[in-house]
Amino acid sequence: MSKRDRGFIDIPRQEPGYRRRERRLQDWRPVERMLTSEELRDQAARCMDCGTPFCHGCGCPLHNIVPELNVLAYQSRWREAWDLLESTHPMPEITARICPALCEGACVAGLHGEPVTIRQIERMIVEHAFESGLVKPKPPAVRHNTRIAVVGSGPAGLAAADRLNRAGYSITVFESAAKPGGILRYGIPDFKLEKWILDRRIQRMVDEGIQFETGVDVGVDLSSHYLLRRYQAMILAGGAQEPRNLDVPGRELDGIHFAMPFLTQQNRRSEGEAIPDDETITARDRIVTVIGGGDTGSDCLGTALRQGARKVYQLEILPRPPAQRSPSTPWPEWPLRLRESSSHLEGGQRLWSVMTRRLEGRDGRVVRLHGCEVEWIAGEDGRKKPRPIEGSDFAMDTDLVLLALGFTGPGRHPCAETLDLARDPQGMIQRDAHQMTSQRGVFITGDMAAGASLVVRALADGARTAYSVKDYLTGKEAT
Ligand SMILES: Cc1cc2nc3c(=O)[nH]c(=O)nc-3n(C[C@H](O)[C@H](O)[C@H](O)COP(=O)(O)OP(=O)(O)OC[C@H]3O[C@@H](n4cnc5c(N)ncnc54)[C@H](O)[C@@H]3O)c2cc1C
Ligand code: SF4
Repeated sequence: MSKRDRGFIDIPRQEPGYRRRERRLQDWRPVERMLTSEELRDQAARCMDCGTPFCHGCGCPLHNIVPELNVLAYQSRWREAWDLLESTHPMPEITARICPALCEGACVAGLHGEPVTIRQIERMIVEHAFESGLVKPKPPAVRHNTRIAVVGSGPAGLAAADRLNRAGYSITVFESAAKPGGILRYGIPDFKLEKWILDRRIQRMVDEGIQFETGVDVGVDLSSHYLLRRYQAMILAGGAQEPRNLDVPGRELDGIHFAMPFLTQQNRRSEGEAIPDDETITARDRIVTVIGGGDTGSDCLGTALRQGARKVYQLEILPRPPAQRSPSTPWPEWPLRLRESSSHLEGGQRLWSVMTRRLEGRDGRVVRLHGCEVEWIAGEDGRKKPRPIEGSDFAMDTDLVLLALGFTGPGRHPCAETLDLARDPQGMIQRDAHQMTSQRGVFITGDMAAGASLVVRALADGARTAYSVKDYLTGKEAT
């Protein structure tokens, strides 16, 4: 009898956990542990050939063929597992570390119990593949002269470049930052994703023939029209970089920053770059208030603790989610429930249902935050809105405020402006069913098109855009 016969009925879900809190706060190394191969094989055995694998169909945006991957991992058929994973996934070593695992939210075993640890099994396949030399550059057998420009080297741009390069197109990726990777490099801290993993992937792409031009802000340093003349198609993958602001009195004080410059500086420092003193944003010895309860806020929290903050608060205007899946998100939807990242387990205090009313300063620098509690009341249109609770006002000392309120979209992106791309009523750049903008031959993908989201969605969108570009270049666009 095989362990797979009774799978999740007999074998409980096992998580790898994190390195010890006291140790991990002393460095920037990854916090997540790995299960042993034997433990992971047991976890793979929990997947039991369910009739309709929702993980594959509606969970993973890349449609990774999860049940087959789990069987191959259980049987230690690493080459086949890697080939299958790579067939749908442009860079699994990244999601194996930082994906929230949408697949697990849709896992059939999770309907009445605990889902299969799909991300951990993906990681085991990845680690085996790299360790045993299965991951090799695969340049296209035939290279044709059709040239495609990709603007932006985050996951969406990289996925589009990878898929089109495999099809033999000549690809140049333009990136305004000093190094490629987008938020993977400059936003996500090393304790979640070390940058050598990204460098290894970029090197593989270079070895496969993709060209990278970094330090080039397209639309500013290089004309978008010039690119359009020299390349047969252009893909805009510039991200959703416009941060949502906080419109309250005192916003102009010193000591109040958007989250991204704070996180980017730490990532640059971790790569050995020196940050000039007069530009430095540091949490050392500060009482830090992070406004925004999402992933970006949680990354600020973990970064501030490592930098030596005295205290860290994370404020969220939404109510605290339930501990278990909320009935508003029934299976197989991605469950709304309380999530605690590794950073939340390290320290700091989370406050829910609170709103910032004003920021108080002394000698031009922020010293206190004034806020209140809110309740969420349905308006006439049925949509819930926050309403201050009378008598709930509070004030808290703070001398560093980090704004992690999300992103509104690509903003006045230079390519969109210079190419005069049409926008929808919400201000997002329009694209048709083939991901083409109002300018023929110019496509748009990832967060720049859909708004701030997740790495796995950016990868999936980038890959989908690559197929649309191929159809356009081969005249199949209308089908
Ligand atoms: C702090 C933070 C933490 C996150 N953590 C996670 C996580 O743990 N898991 C997860 O799944 N998702 C996470 N996300 C979300 C995820 O990182 C994004 O959804 C994803 O990176 C979007 O990919 P993208 O390629 O569309 O854009 P980006 O990654 O934003 O890349 C866009 C790139 O385009 C470049 N660019 C823009 N304009 C130009 C121009 N004119 N010329 C040249 N280059 C240009 C930019 O410099 C940038 O490098 C996080 C986001 C943030 C901000
Ligand atoms: S990429 Fe993310 S959603 Fe897809 S299978 Fe891997 S962990 Fe699951």
